Amino acid sequence: MSHIRGCPFCGSNDVTCVGGEGIPGLRVFCSGCGGMGPVRSSREIAVHDWNFRPELQDLLGEAYAQYERAVQEQDATRSTDDTATDELINKVKQLIR
Ligand SMILES: [Zn+2]
Repeated sequence: MSHIRGCPFCGSNDVTCVGGEGIPGLRVFCSGCGGMGPVRSSREIAVHDWNFRPELQDLLGEAYAQYERAVQEQDATRSTDDTATDELINKVKQLIR
C-alpha cells in the first residue's frame, strides 16, 4: 500500500482512504480539517492523486509566477517602445519647426 501524504490544507497526518458511504469510489479524507481528495475508482489512484495535489499546487504557483514575470517584462518592453515613439515624435516636431 502506498503511503498517504499529510494533508495539504491543514498539515495533519490523520488522513485515511475512505470509500462507500454513498460515493461510488474511494477518496482520501482528512480528519483534521475534513479536507477530501478526488473520488477515484481505486485506493491506489485516490492516494496518488491526493499525494500529487501539493506538487500540482507548486507547479501552478510556479507557472503563475512565470506569467507575472512575463507580464512585467512585457510592460517594460512597452514603455521602452513608448520612449522610442516619444523620441521619434520629438525628432519629427524638431524637423517641422
Ligand atoms: Zn486537513
